[in-house]
Amino acid sequence: MPIDMTTFRLTTFLTGIIGLLTAETVWPARAWKTLRSKRIIFHACLSTFNTLVLRVPAYIPLVALLNYMNTHQIGLSHILKLSPAVNIIATVILFDMFDYWWHRFNHRIPILWQFHKVHHVDTHVDTTTSLRFHPGELAFSFLFKAVWIVLWSPTLWAYVIFEASVTLAAQFHHTNIDFPDPIENGLRKVFVTPRYHTAHHTVNQRTGNNNFATIFIFWDKLFTTYRIPDFEEMKYLGLPKGRNIYLKITQTLTAPFRNIY
Ligand SMILES: [Zn+2]
Repeated sequence: MPIDMTTFRLTTFLTGIIGLLTAETVWPARAWKTLRSKRIIFHACLSTFNTLVLRVPAYIPLVALLNYMNTHQIGLSHILKLSPAVNIIATVILFDMFDYWWHRFNHRIPILWQFHKVHHVDTHVDTTTSLRFHPGELAFSFLFKAVWIVLWSPTLWAYVIFEASVTLAAQFHHTNIDFPDPIENGLRKVFVTPRYHTAHHTVNQRTGNNNFATIFIFWDKLFTTYRIPDFEEMKYLGLPKGRNIYLKITQTLTAPFRNIY
């Protein structure tokens, strides 16, 4: 990836995580029952590990694929002859729909759930939860995304802006804050809010197996997985099993193969 795009990604990531860590320190919705510094260190280490072993190596073939598609004008976006600005908007919306289905598949297909449950075993939900993914889930995600890239062929900038938007959206909707109802209801007309996504992390499966959207909330409405959050259900987050080992690195990395939660 060119230097200016890498700088853009890194800047949005750091601005988002630092800003939202500060926001949830000032206005926490739920009290932390685990030492917060322990969560921050564990999730930062897991995310750094994922970046080094997976994100960086995967981006090299991904960028090569994008360059090849754009140089040879292959893919639906070239057939439609979209301007660069329209390409960015269309890519963010379409790829967000892809993420909706990818997330839904992660809950419905057993082998994908084995990896995705590493994210869900977290008994808290705060902005550091957005860093919590098993490298296997990210690897599967890159493979599926490559198919989507071949079909659509976004410009390099459109793809980078989409990735930055997803990162910011994930950091935001995992944040441990809860907006007053008028703001919550206004935001939730378009975007996935922290309250709405926290409901996706309840042990209770009424909302836990719904509310899959990442950036735009209308995918849940369109595909009938929109469930209104319930504060009682949101008192019990995570999974029924594995609640004492969710911050242990060996168990986290081996969990998909050992069925420990
Ligand atoms: Zn999920």
